[in-house]
Amino acid sequence: MARNPYYNPDQPHHRPDGFQNAEVPFEPKTLGEVLRWRWDATRQRLPHPPRTPIPTQAPDLDFIHRNATAGSAMQPAVTWIGHATALMQCSGVNALTDPIFSERASPVRFAGPQRHQPPGLALRELPRIDLVLVSHNHYDHLDDASVRALHAQPGGPPLFVVPLGLKTWFATRGIRSVVELDWWQAHTLPGPKGPVEVVLVPAQHWSARGLGDRMATLWGGFAVFGPDCHWFYAGDTAYSREFARMRGRFAERQSPARGGGFDLALLPIGSYEPRWFMAGQHVNVEEALQIHRDLGAQRSLGVHWGTYALTDEPLDEPPRRLTQLSLSQGLAQDEFFVLPIGGTQRLAARGTTRDARML
Ligand code: ZN
Ligand code: ZN
Repeated sequence: MARNPYYNPDQPHHRPDGFQNAEVPFEPKTLGEVLRWRWDATRQRLPHPPRTPIPTQAPDLDFIHRNATAGSAMQPAVTWIGHATALMQCSGVNALTDPIFSERASPVRFAGPQRHQPPGLALRELPRIDLVLVSHNHYDHLDDASVRALHAQPGGPPLFVVPLGLKTWFATRGIRSVVELDWWQAHTLPGPKGPVEVVLVPAQHWSARGLGDRMATLWGGFAVFGPDCHWFYAGDTAYSREFARMRGRFAERQSPARGGGFDLALLPIGSYEPRWFMAGQHVNVEEALQIHRDLGAQRSLGVHWGTYALTDEPLDEPPRRLTQLSLSQGLAQDEFFVLPIGGTQRLAARGTTRDARML
């Protein structure tokens, strides 16, 4: 494996040849284990088809576009486009998480996990995007065609913020509006109401796009701090104690007097079965709820489900589990919610009362 040009021996997640989780090292599955998973799934015909259709909704393009150009009057809102792709409109900034609009999450067009239904907004229906957050280089998060299309959007390319090592992937495509971050490094954008700070935070996961590049580039999640809202996107992650630590790290700027914890966390709730294979890389719904509590998020939106059948649970199972567990754990109604694909949830601007947040 190639040398890691970013290697810093003082950083616990750096390795001379790449990166590693600081808490629990990622142990790649053996070929035997991969074959056992695939064999078990084939024998049991997993995943079972969804019992109910995945909810979809025609997007409120009128609101989204008016809001996109409202500048300091932008109302905080999130629109779920599908999988881990969401449009977050906040503090005057139009941001996308891990954009994938393609038919398959795959290096090739003829094979690989296929989309279950179209994106909630087509690429051409998007407002001009200012900021794209890419959590890691797996094909369901870093999609070549989607990145190229966004780079070529009318009005000029967005800023891509990516983990260490991914800048080269963009440069080979002629894309230079890229900022690369290590865990805990921040980049600040000017916004119409004041600065918006983007921090790359740890995730318990891994990276690879081909053979021989496993763990060569970094992975992570994002914490975004703007005047109108503090929001969080976990990327792909297993459960770890890092999330409770993050809360401590952000405690001062998220004190009750300053508006409290994240106004919204986008947390993955799908791709968790079978646990013997997935627990080291993807949370299940119970663990996503634990992250919601660890972070002290005021509300969370479940993403990374309902779009590509990557693992063994039925595509429509995660929100059913979320409803059951939210009830049994006594969460407030809609504290941890899901949206139909294409659906928008408007949020109150930070600093207004908690009751007013539940719009
Ligand atoms: Zn991944
Ligand atoms: Zn993923």
